[in-house]
Amino acid sequence: MFSSNFRQHLQQTLKQIQDDGLSKTESLLASSQDASIQLADGRQVINLCANNYLGLANHPHITAAAANALASWGFGMASVRFICGTQTLHRQLEETISRFLGTEDTILYPSCFDANGGLFEVLLTEADAVISDSLNHASIIDGVRLCKAKRYRYANNDMVDLEKQLQQADADGARFKLITTDGVFSMDGVIASLDAIHQLAARYDALVHFDDCHATGFLGATGRGTHEHCGLLGQIDLTTGTLGKALGGASGGYTSGKKEIIDLLRQRSRPYLFSNSIAPVIVAASLEVFRMLEESHELANRVKENTRYFRQAMEQTGFAISGKDHPITPILLGDANDQLDKAISAFIKVGKKLKVIS
Ligand SMILES: *Cc1c(COP(=O)(O)O)cnc(C)c1O
Repeated sequence: MFSSNFRQHLQQTLKQIQDDGLSKTESLLASSQDASIQLADGRQVINLCANNYLGLANHPHITAAAANALASWGFGMASVRFICGTQTLHRQLEETISRFLGTEDTILYPSCFDANGGLFEVLLTEADAVISDSLNHASIIDGVRLCKAKRYRYANNDMVDLEKQLQQADADGARFKLITTDGVFSMDGVIASLDAIHQLAARYDALVHFDDCHATGFLGATGRGTHEHCGLLGQIDLTTGTLGKALGGASGGYTSGKKEIIDLLRQRSRPYLFSNSIAPVIVAASLEVFRMLEESHELANRVKENTRYFRQAMEQTGFAISGKDHPITPILLGDANDQLDKAISAFIKVGKKLKVIS
């Protein structure tokens, strides 16, 4: 029963969140996702906070592909993959992602949160070790919590500490070791030193997993992601990613890598086995996304140009920008409120000159 005690308890918790200044509010949009959006109160604003890196969330090619798929493949699958939820489209998308990333095989999930949630417990047991970057995404943290491997944490992108943790895992007698990291850390736009991580992994005989949600589609010379940016095309073990950011922004995720890993995930990974197939509309539209990205690097190049321009222009207005080479452009404000006003007016001035992708 929903007792008054329990209600009071929830109310107190909510008030505490509010008092701590941690309450999250939602801005209501009255338009589709875009570089310029309309808010429910009628204001038209420049939008610099979506993960819509390539402007594909409302691109005419993508919405047309989705509309066509709706007519020919239907709306839903009403099944998990292994019962009757795999259309030829789903397999085609998995093969396309493998080709795009340069991996052996790929498995789709309802989201990347699920891909990370269903990864570690399938691959590792209590005899093994997982060595995790301290700033990894919540879904990696939860995925690691679900597995019984011994846990080691290293300071964010700190290779000296990573090596120390690898040595500790060896000293503790780990059978297999898996290093896990975000490809790009979304809070500060820092790109992981994936090349250095791979060198350490080779020296200490560890597997490497990286989550490339904030890179696939635009980072690296042809937009393949952090592994391309770091010169590791064709050399990766295991990556997870999302269809919900640069790649159209709808939803869906995947794990991609060595064939036996993917084969085992298909047999054992719980969010894959027990959650619905991705809707055909999203799968077909995603195929069109990859077709566009393989045909031309224009969008990826444009976001790189915009990134260079925006980072430089904001720096020239006197703000400290963290990260490097990545469209996530965190402006460090400090405490003073007048800094916020100054940043907003600089944002508007600089943002207006962006060649927006839409
Ligand atoms: C966004 C994000 C996710 C979650 O992706 P979904 O497909 O939305 O579940 C996971 N990992 C990282 C690093 C992300 O940025």
